[in-house]
Amino acid sequence: MNQQKVFECKYGKVKIKVYGGLDEIGGNCIVIEDGDRKIVFDNGIRFSVLRKFYGGRIEPLGLSELRAIGAVPPLEALQEASALYISHFHLDHTGLLSSIPPEVSIKIPSMKVLESTLASWYKRPGSWLAYVPPDYTAKVEEVELRREDENNVMAIPVSHSCFPSRAFLYAGSDATIFYSGDLRFEPLTNVCHRLDETIRDVGIDRVDIALLEGTNFNAEYTSITASMFRDYISLLLREYELTHISIDPLDLEAFMAILDSSLLMGRNLVIGSERLLWVIDEVEKLRPEALDKIYVSRELEVPTPLILRNISLINDVFKNPESYVLIIEPVGLLQIFRKLKIWGESPNLTGSVVVLMDPEPRESIKEVEEGALRTWLKSFGIQALRLRLSGHYLPHQFRDIIETLKPKSLIPLHTEEATLMNKLFKKFNFC
Ligand SMILES: [Zn+2]
Repeated sequence: MNQQKVFECKYGKVKIKVYGGLDEIGGNCIVIEDGDRKIVFDNGIRFSVLRKFYGGRIEPLGLSELRAIGAVPPLEALQEASALYISHFHLDHTGLLSSIPPEVSIKIPSMKVLESTLASWYKRPGSWLAYVPPDYTAKVEEVELRREDENNVMAIPVSHSCFPSRAFLYAGSDATIFYSGDLRFEPLTNVCHRLDETIRDVGIDRVDIALLEGTNFNAEYTSITASMFRDYISLLLREYELTHISIDPLDLEAFMAILDSSLLMGRNLVIGSERLLWVIDEVEKLRPEALDKIYVSRELEVPTPLILRNISLINDVFKNPESYVLIIEPVGLLQIFRKLKIWGESPNLTGSVVVLMDPEPRESIKEVEEGALRTWLKSFGIQALRLRLSGHYLPHQFRDIIETLKPKSLIPLHTEEATLMNKLFKKFNFC
């Protein structure tokens, strides 16, 4: 009853079937059949379905139940495909990789990032999230960038609140298809290029069909741009003592932007979550000169990467709060404050602020109840502010994307506003 109706369309010999992501945010699963070839883009979890069936102590029993209720793509979508391409490691796109039929190669954006993030976060047996990492027998490969592979698929680097993220271009027998995954048009930092520049660089002039996300057409909050974000963070660093910023642990761009603002304002960055330590390898490549301004909180009680120093929150950071920015993700944030309570430490953090920037609840699992988190923060005198920095392009940039790709047809995905996107597409395309 919850299986999404499969949308199908045909362009000559190329058939597109959408198993998930139509008229809803998340759960993307798109199958392309072209002669003897079958490939799949994304294998997402449908959080809209998950939220209806589960909550509190009602947790999924396992894979067959999740399939039966339509929270993950049906087996028929994947069977006999030569490859499943994962655009990025948000669960509404990656899904449960241990459930992929053995004949399918799983093509992912980065082996190293998979190992140090999802595969290590969700390996705990007994939870349905243990189905997220691929089985050890699965064929898993990293996609090569800007080059067509054996299935005529080219991976294109895009900006998103999850690093690394890829869009895909499929050069089919009768049609070229662009699949966006999730993307920002304009990156937050120079971790990635603007979409129009990248598309020009890989030599794409136009495509036949664009399968394009449209998350922000129905956003319930004001969209802010990269420069508004930088201004706001600078304002907080000027006005508050210790600034804690809680981000999606996969969001390297946000990490780099906060690092830049902290250095600009003369503050050191302290990493307060184990789940953020994977970014250090990337920082070493992108901004090696910044490493001596980054510390790891000693209270985490985890080994500090060799190139970083550790620092005590209680003995150093809380005593000199205006010199630091504490970067954290929601699970780690709660852990730190709970530990302080147990240790009987109650630093006075009045005048400090926590900025909550973690992801859209519609696209992820909520690991920390925000109300409870606020109560913990309040008990230390800390104010909590919510800042929604979207990982997706803003509605006014839709026109730029259409002009970049010049598609003959559009299939809106990952949106609740497909009709509006189609109307805008017609307007921009023919005026
Ligand atoms: Zn995403």
